[in-house]
Amino acid sequence: MWRVIGQPRVISLFQRSLEKGSLAHAYLFVGPPHVGKMTLAVNLAQVLNCQENEPPCMECDSCQKIARAKHADVQIIGLADASDKNETKNKAEIGIEQIRRLQHSASLPPFEGRYKVFIIDGAEYLSIEAANCLLKTLEEPFEKVLFILSAKNIGSIPDTVISRCQKLELMPVSANEIEKELINNRGIGEQKARILSKLCRGCIGWAISASVDDELLEHYCKDRGEMLDIISYNYEERFEYAARLARQFSKKREITLEVLNLWIDLWRDLLLIKTGLTGIIINIDIAEKLNQIAGGISLLDIRRFIKKTQEAMQNLRRNANPRLVLEVLMLDMPERKKERIRS
Ligand SMILES: [Zn+2]
Repeated sequence: MWRVIGQPRVISLFQRSLEKGSLAHAYLFVGPPHVGKMTLAVNLAQVLNCQENEPPCMECDSCQKIARAKHADVQIIGLADASDKNETKNKAEIGIEQIRRLQHSASLPPFEGRYKVFIIDGAEYLSIEAANCLLKTLEEPFEKVLFILSAKNIGSIPDTVISRCQKLELMPVSANEIEKELINNRGIGEQKARILSKLCRGCIGWAISASVDDELLEHYCKDRGEMLDIISYNYEERFEYAARLARQFSKKREITLEVLNLWIDLWRDLLLIKTGLTGIIINIDIAEKLNQIAGGISLLDIRRFIKKTQEAMQNLRRNANPRLVLEVLMLDMPERKKERIRS
């Protein structure tokens, strides 16, 4: 049984292709983090190598080995490549050496299964040389070899590589579907399931992880509490926060952008509350607190600040000076002159 939740269009496409024997030799899965791209890729590898009649059975030797990343014919290549002893961890890109090794492996017949499957996790991090090297392989596909590229966005992947793959977009999963999965199949209590299904913003993998890892949720709530506190900070405190965020950005860009995304979600919730749409906010567990904050800020200011935050994110992606961008954003943030809010 396919393990992917909330992607019926993509699953039925694969089922049709498998029935007709018309599978492409390379796919590009695009979608936000934790939406199910890796689950789908691993599932597809299991379907192609399952030893039972109704693949993927999840129980045969092959399905199990693939699930544990121990199958000789299924390889995952990414920034954190466990097989890569020579390169340092936390690399900034997927290098050409990784792709050369992959090419060599792809040229050999399957060792124990029917299909060789290469999953490139984070294809947006392929270096230019690595992407060009991969392109050659994609242009001259081998028999019984499948490439699955997975990416959050395709902006930095060369068009030549994209055009050699069948592109499939994975959409955020509905909160209802996530809530049902957490309650019915993972034994999570109704209230927690409801909160997580909203907080994950359609990225089911996050909800599943947070349902068993309390630290993940605590960390999220801490970040969120601080963001709400900032509204009541004076400028000195706001600049301190901006400096901290800018330092983090220079080390881990994606984490900082994720913080700003979370920020936009919070302010969007304030906007929804302000316009009487409290029923569809994301942060339902702190609805009352958001209600209080919304009372002290005008609708116009909230709208304006969401736009400013989106602009700041664009500027950061375009390599503007992070400290400057974030300090300006702090100045743009509406003030709420009331007692400090605690999370
Ligand atoms: Zn199986």
